[in-house]
Amino acid sequence: RFVTYDARIFSFREKDWTVSLTTVEGRERFELAIGNYQRGMLAGSNPKSATLVQRKDGSYYIQICVEKNPPKQQDTDRVIGVDLGRTDIAHTSEGDNWNGQQLNRVRDHYSKLRAALQRKASKGTRSSRRRCRELLQRLSGKERRFQTWVNHRISKVIVSRAKATNSAIALEDLTGIRERVNQQPRSKAERRRANSWAFYQLRQFLEYKALRAGVALILVPPAYTSQTCHRCLHIHPDPAQSYRSGKKFKCGHCGWEGDADLNGANVIALLGAAVNQPRGSWLACQLQGYRKPALYCEAVRVG
Ligand SMILES: [Zn+2]
Repeated sequence: RFVTYDARIFSFREKDWTVSLTTVEGRERFELAIGNYQRGMLAGSNPKSATLVQRKDGSYYIQICVEKNPPKQQDTDRVIGVDLGRTDIAHTSEGDNWNGQQLNRVRDHYSKLRAALQRKASKGTRSSRRRCRELLQRLSGKERRFQTWVNHRISKVIVSRAKATNSAIALEDLTGIRERVNQQPRSKAERRRANSWAFYQLRQFLEYKALRAGVALILVPPAYTSQTCHRCLHIHPDPAQSYRSGKKFKCGHCGWEGDADLNGANVIALLGAAVNQPRGSWLACQLQGYRKPALYCEAVRVG
């Protein structure tokens, strides 16, 4: 069973990935359960028609008619590595970085307010408890919108840079980010930052903006990207130690010294480049014989 919708009774809103449909009960808005590929297709597309289909089990799905095709991915051997969510929100191998200080201040502010409200919401009269719950909800909406705005800005800059320089973008695997960020015991504030939906969202934005711009996206395994020196590909010979120390990286082999996130982003770019050129075996050769050889081989190309 299906219903066909045209522009008079159907509209799509990109801001929150919802569609508005006229139903027997009037106009209703529905959230779309979609992945990055669909987001990439829908973004900026202004669809004019859709078909609502009821499945046998009673659930619904919607086919949205999109007129354009996403651009073909450009072929390139240049790769921009992006390191996400360590001490900076994002750091690229080109040296662009967005540090989290301002953002963290805003988040800490909200989190303190929230904690205070939560304490209040658990005691007091019934009406004051309700008032607290409403405030809490408004607060989380504000925080979310601010974070989303920041993520749009960052992903836009990175994708435009890749497009302008005819480069692919290399990122670490998402599951890897969680594992890696949780490697060391961290303060409560740090963990809250690391496990938030914010980094997941930034990644999603990067993925669909890249797709829309025709920029190739490469995922690389996150293991050891922060420990490996991007210049000589050396890892500290003692597994219990690292050339990285907080925001600093100092290679004990070649002596390179600098920002640890910049180093990480460059390692990601190298791994990405190795994936992008399957015949280029130089990275594999150099990595073999070190503590963790063949980092590159699990990496996958997306799209
Ligand atoms: Zn080195």
